Amino acid sequence: MPGFEVFGEEEKQQVMDVFDTGVLFRYEFGAQRNDVYKVREFEQAFAAYTGADHAQAVSSGTAAVKVALAALGVGAGDEVITQSFTFVATWEAILDVGAIPVFTEIDTTLNMDPSDLEKKITDKTKAIIAVHMLGAPARIEQIKAIADAHNLPLIEDTAQSAGCRLNGKHMGTFGDIGTFSFDSVKTMTTGEGGMCITNNEALWRAMSEYHDHGHDHAVNPGGRGGEGRSFIGFNYRMMELQGAIGLAQLAKLDNMVESQRKNKAVIREAVATIPGVTFRDILDPSGDSATFLAFMLPSKEKAAAVNSVLRENGAGAINWSENSWHFYPQWEHLLGGKTPAQNGWPFSAHGKRRYIYDPDAFPISAALMERTLCYQVPVKLSDENRNTMAEALHKAAQL
Ligand SMILES: *Cc1c(COP(=O)(O)O)cnc(C)c1O
Repeated sequence: MPGFEVFGEEEKQQVMDVFDTGVLFRYEFGAQRNDVYKVREFEQAFAAYTGADHAQAVSSGTAAVKVALAALGVGAGDEVITQSFTFVATWEAILDVGAIPVFTEIDTTLNMDPSDLEKKITDKTKAIIAVHMLGAPARIEQIKAIADAHNLPLIEDTAQSAGCRLNGKHMGTFGDIGTFSFDSVKTMTTGEGGMCITNNEALWRAMSEYHDHGHDHAVNPGGRGGEGRSFIGFNYRMMELQGAIGLAQLAKLDNMVESQRKNKAVIREAVATIPGVTFRDILDPSGDSATFLAFMLPSKEKAAAVNSVLRENGAGAINWSENSWHFYPQWEHLLGGKTPAQNGWPFSAHGKRRYIYDPDAFPISAALMERTLCYQVPVKLSDENRNTMAEALHKAAQL
């Protein structure tokens, strides 16, 4: 999965360009910066790579989701629908704009179940966030059709799926806004960082202004201090060093994905020898970013037995239902409404709970997750690791 595996001279060279100017800020300093604008260049390169018209760099993938929601006009009391299997960041951003996260079941894509999405739409719904988990697409065309039928904006949280395409089209370009993360474990990384892409110029402008205290970035004689604004904002800016690293990493993304696909195929072949195993639905294998291989056993008990053999032999798999950061029943802080705010916000307002989260609300997802095992696919798979995995999987196949 991670871009840190391929960190090298290209990243160093890009960063040195910034140190040579001494300008770390993405705006202003025209006289000193010798025309080096790394964040701006990274935005343009990322838009071109994904095929989007506009890109807005931000400070993290979580900030990207929040900036997208703010630009779409989502606010207090609104409901935003997302899926029960995602990283906590997706719904943290929803709560942070004052809205209420509503969750759906997942299906064998391990992403949003479109039929459950239909059931969760109410007159309070103001946006949908589909997440492309573990490097592969949600049923985004169906989800988009449902969003359109209800006149709802669609955000794609593509934090885990840079380099992933469906029928030749990059994930994040199907809905109104696609958001990305470049944190330290993502396929391409800038240490911390994020991006929003869109084909809608008005949305891009709103994101550009909101992420920088409302600055309208219009050229004027007073410079930055003389810029106007039309609404309040916040600071989610990316700095030049991150933009520089992003340029080097983006240039390596297709090669990383290609290596991952090869390595995934090798691991998949060994997994396929386990009797009764099935695989996660990958809607378009030719566009898979191949960061993970997820496979299902016929039952929870069988999955546990297989994984204990794998663990004993040095090749344990991830069971996401046991992971406290990615799956709804394990989010005890959400379920329990835990917040540092003494008045209970955002879970409570005026002494009243705004929404009750039932830990057993997603039986279909829970049953699926409990029998699913998952390997992270490395960019570089050593012969030693490959052999360890092959032997462990061979033993698990004898069960
Ligand atoms: C990593 C991730 C994020 C958040 O990204 P950060 O850059 O770590 O803030 C959001 N959504 C998903 C699905 C993620 O995996």
